Amino acid sequence: MNMIEANDIKMIDFKIVDINGQYRHVTIPVQQFSADTLTSGIGFDASNYGYAVVEKSDMVFIPDLDTAIVDPFCEIPTLSVTGNAMVIDYPENRPLDQYPRNIVQAAERYMKETGVADTMLILPEFEFHLFDSVGWAVQPNSISMSLDVSQAPWNSAVEGKGCVIPHQKAYHVAKPFDRTYECRSEMCLEMEKAGIPIKYHHPEVGASGQFEIEPMLGEMSKMADATMMIKYIIHNTALKYGKTATLMPKPVYGEAGNGMHVHMLLLKNGEPVFSDDNGYSHLSRTAHYFIGGLLKHISSLCAITNPSTNSFKRLVPGFEAPVTVGYATSNRSAVIRIPAYAKKPTMRRFELRNPDATCNPYLCYAAILMAGLDGIKNQIDPHENGWGPYDVNLYSLSDEEKSKLQALPTSLDAALDALEADHDYLTAGGVFPEQLLQNFISIKRQECLELSAIPHPAEFARYYNL
Ligand code: GLN
Ligand code: MG
Ligand code: MG
Ligand code: MG
Repeated sequence: MNMIEANDIKMIDFKIVDINGQYRHVTIPVQQFSADTLTSGIGFDASNYGYAVVEKSDMVFIPDLDTAIVDPFCEIPTLSVTGNAMVIDYPENRPLDQYPRNIVQAAERYMKETGVADTMLILPEFEFHLFDSVGWAVQPNSISMSLDVSQAPWNSAVEGKGCVIPHQKAYHVAKPFDRTYECRSEMCLEMEKAGIPIKYHHPEVGASGQFEIEPMLGEMSKMADATMMIKYIIHNTALKYGKTATLMPKPVYGEAGNGMHVHMLLLKNGEPVFSDDNGYSHLSRTAHYFIGGLLKHISSLCAITNPSTNSFKRLVPGFEAPVTVGYATSNRSAVIRIPAYAKKPTMRRFELRNPDATCNPYLCYAAILMAGLDGIKNQIDPHENGWGPYDVNLYSLSDEEKSKLQALPTSLDAALDALEADHDYLTAGGVFPEQLLQNFISIKRQECLELSAIPHPAEFARYYNL
Protein backbone atom coordinates (compact mmCIF):
# COMPACT_ATOMS: atom_id res chain seq x y z
CA MET A 1 0.00 0.00 0.00
CA ASN A 2 2.97 2.29 0.69
CA MET A 3 4.39 1.53 -2.73
CA ILE A 4 1.00 2.16 -4.33
CA GLU A 5 0.73 5.54 -2.65
CA ALA A 6 4.33 6.62 -3.16
CA ASN A 7 4.21 5.83 -6.88
CA ASP A 8 0.64 6.94 -7.57
CA ILE A 9 -0.08 3.41 -8.84
CA LYS A 10 -3.19 3.03 -11.00
CA MET A 11 -3.00 -0.63 -12.04
CA ILE A 12 -1.78 -3.89 -10.47
CA ASP A 13 -0.27 -6.33 -12.94
CA PHE A 14 -0.07 -10.05 -12.13
CA LYS A 15 2.72 -11.80 -14.01
CA ILE A 16 2.05 -15.51 -14.33
CA VAL A 17 4.44 -18.06 -15.86
CA ASP A 18 3.36 -20.67 -18.40
CA ILE A 19 4.88 -24.14 -18.79
CA ASN A 20 7.34 -22.80 -21.39
CA GLY A 21 8.70 -20.21 -18.98
CA GLN A 22 7.06 -17.21 -20.61
CA TYR A 23 5.34 -14.41 -18.71
CA ARG A 24 1.63 -13.91 -19.30
CA HIS A 25 -0.16 -11.11 -17.46
CA VAL A 26 -3.52 -9.99 -16.19
CA THR A 27 -4.17 -6.52 -14.82
CA ILE A 28 -6.65 -5.05 -12.31
CA PRO A 29 -7.41 -1.42 -11.41
CA VAL A 30 -5.82 -0.48 -8.10
CA GLN A 31 -9.27 0.04 -6.44
CA GLN A 32 -9.94 -3.70 -6.79
CA PHE A 33 -6.75 -4.62 -4.93
CA SER A 34 -7.29 -5.47 -1.25
CA ALA A 35 -6.21 -7.87 1.48
CA ASP A 36 -8.76 -10.26 -0.01
CA THR A 37 -6.77 -10.41 -3.28
CA LEU A 38 -3.94 -12.01 -1.29
CA THR A 39 -6.10 -14.96 -0.26
CA SER A 40 -8.77 -15.28 -2.97
CA GLY A 41 -6.36 -14.42 -5.77
CA ILE A 42 -7.20 -13.81 -9.42
CA GLY A 43 -8.92 -16.49 -11.45
CA PHE A 44 -7.31 -17.72 -14.67
CA ASP A 45 -7.65 -20.47 -17.27
CA ALA A 46 -4.76 -22.86 -16.51
CA SER A 47 -5.40 -24.96 -19.63
CA ASN A 48 -4.00 -22.12 -21.72
CA TYR A 49 -0.84 -22.22 -19.62
CA GLY A 50 -0.15 -25.94 -20.18
CA TYR A 51 -1.08 -27.07 -16.64
CA ALA A 52 -4.61 -28.37 -16.87
CA VAL A 53 -7.26 -29.89 -19.11
CA VAL A 54 -10.07 -27.67 -20.43
CA GLU A 55 -12.70 -29.44 -18.36
CA LYS A 56 -10.82 -28.63 -15.13
CA SER A 57 -9.09 -25.40 -15.93
CA ASP A 58 -10.26 -22.85 -13.33
CA MET A 59 -7.36 -21.92 -11.04
CA VAL A 60 -6.38 -18.87 -9.01
CA PHE A 61 -3.18 -16.89 -8.89
CA ILE A 62 -2.00 -15.57 -5.50
CA PRO A 63 0.44 -12.65 -5.62
CA ASP A 64 3.60 -12.75 -3.51
CA LEU A 65 4.04 -9.16 -2.32
CA ASP A 66 7.80 -9.60 -1.85
CA THR A 67 8.06 -9.57 -5.64
CA ALA A 68 6.31 -6.21 -6.14
CA ILE A 69 8.10 -3.63 -8.30
CA VAL A 70 6.96 -0.64 -10.30
CA ASP A 71 6.88 -1.89 -13.90
CA PRO A 72 9.35 0.39 -15.75
CA PHE A 73 7.79 -0.30 -19.15
CA CYS A 74 4.21 0.84 -18.46
CA GLU A 75 3.29 4.45 -19.10
CA ILE A 76 0.36 4.22 -16.71
CA PRO A 77 1.88 3.73 -13.21
CA THR A 78 1.67 -0.03 -12.71
CA LEU A 79 2.72 -2.27 -9.85
CA SER A 80 3.96 -5.65 -11.07
CA VAL A 81 3.82 -8.81 -8.92
CA THR A 82 4.42 -12.48 -9.49
CA GLY A 83 3.34 -15.33 -7.22
CA ASN A 84 1.95 -18.87 -7.00
CA ALA A 85 -0.96 -20.72 -8.57
CA MET A 86 -3.59 -22.61 -6.55
CA VAL A 87 -6.15 -25.28 -7.38
CA ILE A 88 -9.65 -24.28 -6.27
CA ASP A 89 -10.86 -26.46 -3.41
CA TYR A 90 -13.20 -26.24 -0.44
CA PRO A 91 -12.81 -24.97 2.26
CA GLU A 92 -9.22 -24.06 1.35
CA ASN A 93 -7.51 -23.79 -2.02
CA ARG A 94 -4.35 -25.88 -2.40
CA PRO A 95 -1.11 -25.16 -4.28
CA LEU A 96 -1.07 -26.29 -7.93
CA ASP A 97 1.83 -28.73 -7.65
CA GLN A 98 2.53 -28.37 -11.39
CA TYR A 99 3.12 -24.62 -11.18
CA PRO A 100 6.87 -24.06 -11.78
CA ARG A 101 7.29 -21.56 -8.92
CA ASN A 102 5.75 -24.11 -6.53
CA ILE A 103 8.17 -26.74 -7.87
CA VAL A 104 11.30 -24.67 -7.28
CA GLN A 105 10.12 -23.98 -3.73
CA ALA A 106 9.39 -27.70 -3.24
CA ALA A 107 12.93 -28.51 -4.42
CA GLU A 108 14.35 -26.12 -1.81
CA ARG A 109 12.21 -27.73 0.91
CA TYR A 110 13.42 -31.17 -0.21
CA MET A 111 17.05 -29.97 -0.02
CA LYS A 112 16.49 -28.84 3.59
CA GLU A 113 14.86 -32.18 4.47
CA THR A 114 17.93 -34.08 3.22
CA GLY A 115 20.04 -32.15 5.74
CA VAL A 116 22.75 -31.59 3.09
CA ALA A 117 22.23 -27.83 2.92
CA ASP A 118 19.69 -25.12 3.63
CA THR A 119 20.51 -22.77 0.74
CA MET A 120 21.46 -23.15 -2.89
CA LEU A 121 23.05 -20.04 -4.40
CA ILE A 122 23.09 -19.74 -8.17
CA LEU A 123 24.30 -17.30 -10.78
CA PRO A 124 22.77 -17.66 -14.25
CA GLU A 125 24.58 -15.87 -17.09
CA PHE A 126 22.52 -14.27 -19.83
CA GLU A 127 23.89 -14.21 -23.35
CA PHE A 128 21.73 -12.61 -26.03
CA HIS A 129 21.77 -10.91 -29.42
CA LEU A 130 20.51 -7.43 -30.22
CA PHE A 131 19.32 -7.06 -33.79
CA ASP A 132 18.21 -3.91 -35.56
CA SER A 133 15.11 -5.19 -37.22
CA VAL A 134 12.20 -6.59 -35.26
CA GLY A 135 10.95 -8.39 -38.34
CA TRP A 136 14.05 -10.44 -38.88
CA ALA A 137 14.35 -12.05 -35.50
CA VAL A 138 10.65 -12.73 -35.15
CA GLN A 139 10.19 -14.01 -38.67
CA PRO A 140 13.40 -15.24 -40.28
CA ASN A 141 12.32 -14.74 -43.86
CA SER A 142 15.58 -13.91 -45.58
CA ILE A 143 17.70 -16.74 -46.87
CA SER A 144 20.82 -14.72 -47.55
CA MET A 145 20.82 -13.08 -44.13
CA SER A 146 20.64 -16.32 -42.27
CA LEU A 147 23.33 -18.00 -44.32
CA ASP A 148 25.82 -15.28 -45.11
CA VAL A 149 26.66 -13.42 -41.97
CA SER A 150 29.14 -11.04 -43.55
CA GLN A 151 26.37 -9.59 -45.75
CA ALA A 152 23.91 -9.08 -42.95
CA PRO A 153 22.89 -5.45 -42.56
CA TRP A 154 22.55 -5.83 -38.79
CA ASN A 155 26.23 -6.69 -38.42
CA SER A 156 27.69 -4.61 -35.60
CA ALA A 157 30.80 -3.83 -37.60
CA VAL A 158 32.42 -0.90 -39.37
CA GLU A 159 30.21 0.01 -42.27
CA GLY A 160 31.82 1.54 -45.31
CA LYS A 161 29.98 2.56 -48.47
CA GLY A 162 28.30 -0.55 -49.79
CA CYS A 163 30.28 -2.97 -47.70
CA VAL A 164 30.35 -4.35 -44.19
CA ILE A 165 33.61 -5.32 -42.52
CA PRO A 166 32.64 -7.67 -39.74
CA HIS A 167 34.63 -8.23 -36.59
CA GLN A 168 35.67 -11.85 -36.56
CA LYS A 169 35.37 -11.95 -32.79
CA ALA A 170 33.68 -9.26 -30.77
CA TYR A 171 34.47 -10.31 -27.16
CA HIS A 172 34.72 -7.15 -25.01
CA VAL A 173 35.08 -4.81 -28.04
CA ALA A 174 34.95 -1.15 -26.98
CA LYS A 175 33.16 1.85 -28.45
CA PRO A 176 32.68 2.85 -31.24
CA PHE A 177 32.28 -0.82 -32.30
CA ASP A 178 30.18 -1.45 -29.21
CA ARG A 179 27.03 0.38 -30.30
CA THR A 180 24.60 -0.78 -27.66
CA TYR A 181 26.47 0.20 -24.52
CA GLU A 182 23.76 2.68 -23.41
CA CYS A 183 20.99 0.19 -24.04
CA ARG A 184 22.69 -2.53 -21.94
CA SER A 185 23.64 -0.09 -19.20
CA GLU A 186 20.00 0.96 -19.01
CA MET A 187 19.00 -2.72 -18.80
CA CYS A 188 21.37 -3.20 -15.85
CA LEU A 189 20.11 -0.06 -14.10
CA GLU A 190 16.53 -1.33 -14.44
CA MET A 191 17.57 -4.72 -13.05
CA GLU A 192 19.19 -3.04 -10.05
CA LYS A 193 15.99 -1.02 -9.53
CA ALA A 194 14.02 -4.26 -9.62
CA GLY A 195 16.19 -5.54 -6.75
CA ILE A 196 18.56 -7.67 -8.84
CA PRO A 197 22.22 -6.76 -8.16
CA ILE A 198 24.33 -6.94 -11.34
CA LYS A 199 27.92 -8.17 -11.66
CA TYR A 200 28.66 -6.82 -15.16
CA HIS A 201 27.67 -6.58 -18.80
CA HIS A 202 29.84 -6.83 -21.92
CA PRO A 203 29.97 -7.60 -25.63
CA GLU A 204 30.29 -11.37 -26.21
CA VAL A 205 32.22 -13.34 -28.82
CA GLY A 206 29.58 -13.40 -31.60
CA ALA A 207 30.26 -10.75 -34.23
CA SER A 208 26.62 -10.03 -35.07
CA GLY A 209 25.75 -8.13 -31.92
CA GLN A 210 26.07 -10.68 -29.10
CA PHE A 211 26.16 -9.47 -25.49
CA GLU A 212 26.04 -10.74 -21.95
CA ILE A 213 24.67 -9.64 -18.59
CA GLU A 214 25.51 -11.41 -15.34
CA PRO A 215 23.73 -10.86 -12.03
CA MET A 216 25.35 -11.60 -8.66
CA LEU A 217 24.89 -14.97 -6.91
CA GLY A 218 21.46 -15.27 -5.27
CA GLU A 219 19.12 -17.78 -3.65
CA MET A 220 17.77 -20.26 -6.19
CA SER A 221 14.03 -19.55 -6.04
CA LYS A 222 14.63 -15.80 -5.95
CA MET A 223 16.93 -16.16 -8.96
CA ALA A 224 14.17 -18.01 -10.82
CA ASP A 225 11.92 -14.95 -10.34
CA ALA A 226 14.90 -12.74 -11.21
CA THR A 227 15.52 -14.70 -14.41
CA MET A 228 11.99 -13.93 -15.61
CA MET A 229 12.44 -10.24 -14.75
CA ILE A 230 15.91 -10.04 -16.35
CA LYS A 231 14.56 -11.44 -19.63
CA TYR A 232 11.56 -9.09 -19.45
CA ILE A 233 13.91 -6.13 -18.98
CA ILE A 234 16.26 -7.25 -21.79
CA HIS A 235 13.41 -7.58 -24.31
CA ASN A 236 11.59 -4.40 -23.34
CA THR A 237 14.65 -2.16 -23.08
CA ALA A 238 15.83 -3.37 -26.49
CA LEU A 239 12.49 -2.29 -27.96
CA LYS A 240 12.86 1.16 -26.38
CA TYR A 241 16.13 1.52 -28.30
CA GLY A 242 14.52 0.40 -31.57
CA LYS A 243 16.21 -3.00 -31.36
CA THR A 244 14.97 -6.50 -30.80
CA ALA A 245 16.62 -8.85 -28.32
CA THR A 246 16.75 -12.61 -28.58
CA LEU A 247 18.15 -15.12 -26.11
CA MET A 248 17.52 -18.02 -28.47
CA PRO A 249 20.43 -20.46 -28.34
CA LYS A 250 21.62 -20.28 -31.96
CA PRO A 251 20.23 -17.34 -33.90
CA VAL A 252 23.11 -17.14 -36.40
CA TYR A 253 24.64 -20.18 -38.10
CA GLY A 254 28.44 -20.33 -37.89
CA GLU A 255 28.65 -17.94 -34.94
CA ALA A 256 28.70 -18.31 -31.17
CA GLY A 257 25.31 -19.17 -29.67
CA ASN A 258 23.62 -17.92 -26.52
CA GLY A 259 24.09 -19.98 -23.38
CA MET A 260 22.63 -19.53 -19.93
CA HIS A 261 25.40 -21.10 -17.85
CA VAL A 262 24.38 -21.69 -14.25
CA HIS A 263 26.95 -21.35 -11.43
CA MET A 264 26.02 -23.01 -8.14
CA LEU A 265 27.05 -23.62 -4.56
CA LEU A 266 25.39 -24.93 -1.39
CA LEU A 267 25.42 -23.40 2.09
CA LYS A 268 24.55 -24.94 5.44
CA ASN A 269 24.17 -22.55 8.37
CA GLY A 270 26.08 -20.02 6.27
CA GLU A 271 29.04 -22.40 5.78
CA PRO A 272 30.12 -23.39 2.23
CA VAL A 273 29.35 -27.09 1.63
CA PHE A 274 31.38 -27.23 -1.61
CA SER A 275 34.69 -25.98 -0.22
CA ASP A 276 37.71 -28.12 0.75
CA ASP A 277 41.28 -26.81 0.62
CA ASN A 278 42.58 -30.30 -0.18
CA GLY A 279 40.06 -31.35 -2.82
CA TYR A 280 40.47 -31.18 -6.63
CA SER A 281 40.18 -27.46 -7.47
CA HIS A 282 39.41 -26.88 -3.77
CA LEU A 283 36.04 -28.58 -4.06
CA SER A 284 34.69 -30.95 -1.39
CA ARG A 285 33.54 -34.59 -1.81
CA THR A 286 29.97 -33.33 -1.58
CA ALA A 287 30.60 -30.93 -4.47
CA HIS A 288 32.05 -33.82 -6.47
CA TYR A 289 29.00 -35.99 -5.79
CA PHE A 290 26.76 -33.09 -6.83
CA ILE A 291 28.74 -32.89 -10.09
CA GLY A 292 28.38 -36.67 -10.43
CA GLY A 293 24.59 -36.39 -10.13
CA LEU A 294 24.45 -33.68 -12.78
CA LEU A 295 26.63 -35.69 -15.18
CA LYS A 296 24.77 -38.96 -14.57
CA HIS A 297 21.41 -37.35 -15.42
CA ILE A 298 22.71 -34.86 -17.97
CA SER A 299 20.89 -36.36 -20.98
CA SER A 300 17.46 -36.23 -19.39
CA LEU A 301 18.29 -32.91 -17.74
CA CYS A 302 18.87 -31.48 -21.23
CA ALA A 303 15.15 -31.88 -21.98
CA ILE A 304 14.47 -29.33 -19.22
CA THR A 305 17.58 -27.13 -19.46
CA ASN A 306 17.69 -27.12 -23.31
CA PRO A 307 14.06 -27.64 -24.30
CA SER A 308 14.00 -26.25 -27.85
CA THR A 309 14.97 -27.72 -31.21
CA ASN A 310 17.24 -24.68 -31.58
CA SER A 311 19.06 -25.59 -28.33
CA PHE A 312 20.86 -28.44 -30.06
CA LYS A 313 22.10 -26.24 -32.90
CA ARG A 314 24.12 -24.44 -30.19
CA LEU A 315 25.56 -27.61 -28.64
CA VAL A 316 28.09 -28.18 -31.44
CA PRO A 317 31.92 -28.13 -31.30
CA GLY A 318 33.94 -24.95 -31.64
CA PHE A 319 31.84 -22.23 -29.99
CA GLU A 320 32.60 -22.67 -26.26
CA ALA A 321 29.32 -24.53 -25.85
CA PRO A 322 29.63 -28.03 -24.39
CA VAL A 323 29.30 -31.25 -26.40
CA THR A 324 30.94 -33.75 -24.03
CA VAL A 325 29.85 -35.13 -20.66
CA GLY A 326 32.67 -34.22 -18.30
CA TYR A 327 34.05 -31.74 -15.79
CA ALA A 328 37.26 -29.73 -15.56
CA THR A 329 38.82 -26.58 -14.21
CA SER A 330 38.94 -23.48 -16.37
CA ASN A 331 37.84 -25.50 -19.43
CA ARG A 332 35.06 -24.03 -21.53
CA SER A 333 34.72 -27.12 -23.72
CA ALA A 334 33.45 -29.28 -20.80
CA VAL A 335 29.83 -29.33 -19.66
CA ILE A 336 30.92 -28.51 -16.10
CA ARG A 337 33.62 -25.90 -15.60
CA ILE A 338 35.14 -25.05 -12.24
CA PRO A 339 36.17 -21.39 -12.48
CA ALA A 340 39.83 -21.03 -11.51
CA TYR A 341 39.20 -17.54 -10.14
CA ALA A 342 36.58 -18.56 -7.53
CA LYS A 343 39.13 -19.02 -4.74
CA LYS A 344 37.40 -17.70 -1.62
CA PRO A 345 35.81 -20.66 0.27
CA THR A 346 32.38 -18.99 0.17
CA MET A 347 32.69 -18.53 -3.62
CA ARG A 348 33.98 -22.02 -4.52
CA ARG A 349 31.59 -23.39 -7.07
CA PHE A 350 31.20 -24.74 -10.60
CA GLU A 351 29.07 -23.84 -13.58
CA LEU A 352 26.82 -26.05 -15.68
CA ARG A 353 27.30 -24.83 -19.26
CA ASN A 354 24.63 -26.57 -21.29
CA PRO A 355 21.48 -24.65 -20.17
CA ASP A 356 20.01 -21.98 -22.40
CA ALA A 357 17.32 -19.37 -21.95
CA THR A 358 14.61 -21.30 -23.81
CA CYS A 359 14.16 -23.21 -20.55
CA ASN A 360 11.55 -22.51 -17.92
CA PRO A 361 13.95 -21.16 -15.25
CA TYR A 362 11.91 -22.52 -12.33
CA LEU A 363 11.98 -26.04 -13.76
CA CYS A 364 15.60 -25.69 -14.88
CA TYR A 365 16.97 -24.71 -11.47
CA ALA A 366 14.77 -27.19 -9.59
CA ALA A 367 15.92 -30.01 -11.90
CA ILE A 368 19.59 -29.06 -11.48
CA LEU A 369 19.23 -29.17 -7.69
CA MET A 370 17.39 -32.51 -7.80
CA ALA A 371 20.09 -34.08 -10.01
CA GLY A 372 22.82 -32.79 -7.67
CA LEU A 373 21.04 -34.05 -4.54
CA ASP A 374 20.65 -37.46 -6.20
CA GLY A 375 24.41 -37.47 -6.80
CA ILE A 376 25.06 -36.70 -3.12
CA LYS A 377 22.55 -39.32 -1.92
CA ASN A 378 24.04 -42.04 -4.13
CA GLN A 379 27.66 -40.82 -3.80
CA ILE A 380 28.14 -40.66 -7.57
CA ASP A 381 31.84 -39.95 -8.08
CA PRO A 382 32.43 -38.21 -11.44
CA HIS A 383 36.06 -39.36 -11.65
CA GLU A 384 35.25 -43.03 -10.98
CA ASN A 385 32.56 -42.85 -13.66
CA GLY A 386 35.08 -41.70 -16.26
CA TRP A 387 33.79 -38.14 -16.60
CA GLY A 388 37.11 -36.42 -16.03
CA PRO A 389 38.56 -34.15 -14.92
CA TYR A 390 39.38 -33.29 -18.54
CA ASP A 391 41.96 -30.56 -18.66
CA VAL A 392 42.26 -30.70 -22.48
CA ASN A 393 40.37 -28.99 -25.31
CA LEU A 394 37.56 -31.48 -25.89
CA TYR A 395 36.82 -30.07 -29.36
CA SER A 396 40.24 -31.02 -30.73
CA LEU A 397 40.37 -34.68 -29.69
CA SER A 398 40.92 -37.36 -32.33
CA ASP A 399 37.88 -39.35 -33.44
CA GLU A 400 39.20 -42.35 -31.51
CA GLU A 401 39.58 -40.33 -28.30
CA LYS A 402 36.12 -38.83 -28.79
CA SER A 403 34.52 -42.22 -29.27
CA LYS A 404 35.52 -43.11 -25.71
CA LEU A 405 33.67 -40.10 -24.27
CA GLN A 406 29.97 -39.74 -23.62
CA ALA A 407 28.33 -37.04 -25.74
CA LEU A 408 25.41 -34.77 -24.90
CA PRO A 409 22.15 -35.48 -26.75
CA THR A 410 22.14 -33.98 -30.23
CA SER A 411 18.39 -33.35 -30.57
CA LEU A 412 15.42 -32.41 -28.43
CA ASP A 413 13.81 -35.72 -29.32
CA ALA A 414 16.84 -37.59 -27.96
CA ALA A 415 16.75 -35.54 -24.75
CA LEU A 416 13.01 -36.27 -24.38
CA ASP A 417 13.70 -40.01 -24.82
CA ALA A 418 16.23 -39.69 -21.98
CA LEU A 419 13.74 -37.81 -19.78
CA GLU A 420 11.11 -40.49 -20.36
CA ALA A 421 13.57 -43.16 -19.27
CA ASP A 422 15.23 -41.28 -16.41
CA HIS A 423 13.17 -39.00 -14.15
CA ASP A 424 12.92 -40.69 -10.73
CA TYR A 425 15.50 -38.19 -9.45
CA LEU A 426 13.02 -35.41 -10.32
CA THR A 427 9.90 -36.98 -8.79
CA ALA A 428 11.79 -37.85 -5.56
CA GLY A 429 10.03 -36.34 -2.53
CA GLY A 430 7.10 -35.41 -4.80
CA VAL A 431 9.02 -32.38 -6.10
CA PHE A 432 8.24 -32.79 -9.83
CA PRO A 433 4.74 -34.21 -10.32
CA GLU A 434 4.69 -37.09 -12.83
CA GLN A 435 1.73 -35.34 -14.53
CA LEU A 436 3.79 -32.21 -15.21
CA LEU A 437 6.59 -34.25 -16.78
CA GLN A 438 4.05 -36.08 -18.97
CA ASN A 439 2.45 -32.75 -20.05
CA PHE A 440 5.86 -31.27 -20.71
CA ILE A 441 7.03 -34.25 -22.76
CA SER A 442 3.88 -34.30 -24.87
CA ILE A 443 3.99 -30.53 -25.55
CA LYS A 444 7.65 -30.80 -26.55
CA ARG A 445 7.13 -33.89 -28.73
CA GLN A 446 4.45 -31.96 -30.61
CA GLU A 447 6.87 -29.02 -30.99
CA CYS A 448 9.55 -31.34 -32.48
CA LEU A 449 7.03 -32.81 -34.88
CA GLU A 450 5.80 -29.41 -36.06
CA LEU A 451 9.23 -27.88 -36.49
CA SER A 452 10.57 -30.83 -38.45
CA ALA A 453 7.58 -30.55 -40.80
CA ILE A 454 7.89 -26.82 -41.52
CA PRO A 455 9.85 -25.91 -44.71
CA HIS A 456 12.94 -24.00 -43.55
CA PRO A 457 14.57 -20.98 -45.26
CA ALA A 458 17.83 -22.93 -45.42
CA GLU A 459 16.02 -25.64 -47.39
CA PHE A 460 15.02 -23.04 -49.97
CA ALA A 461 18.69 -22.10 -50.36
CA ARG A 462 19.66 -25.70 -50.95
CA TYR A 463 16.74 -27.08 -52.90
CA TYR A 464 14.88 -24.20 -54.58
CA ASN A 465 16.75 -24.33 -57.89
CA LEU A 466 17.22 -28.07 -58.15
N1 GLN B 1 28.51 -18.46 -26.02
C1 GLN B 1 29.08 -19.62 -25.36
C2 GLN B 1 27.96 -20.65 -25.13
O1 GLN B 1 27.20 -20.87 -26.00
C3 GLN B 1 29.82 -19.24 -24.10
C4 GLN B 1 30.95 -18.29 -24.33
C5 GLN B 1 31.57 -17.72 -23.08
O2 GLN B 1 30.86 -17.39 -22.14
N2 GLN B 1 32.85 -17.50 -23.04
O3 GLN B 1 27.85 -21.27 -24.11
MG1 MG C 1 29.78 -14.99 -18.46
MG1 MG D 1 29.60 -15.68 -21.94
MG1 MG E 1 30.10 -19.05 -17.88
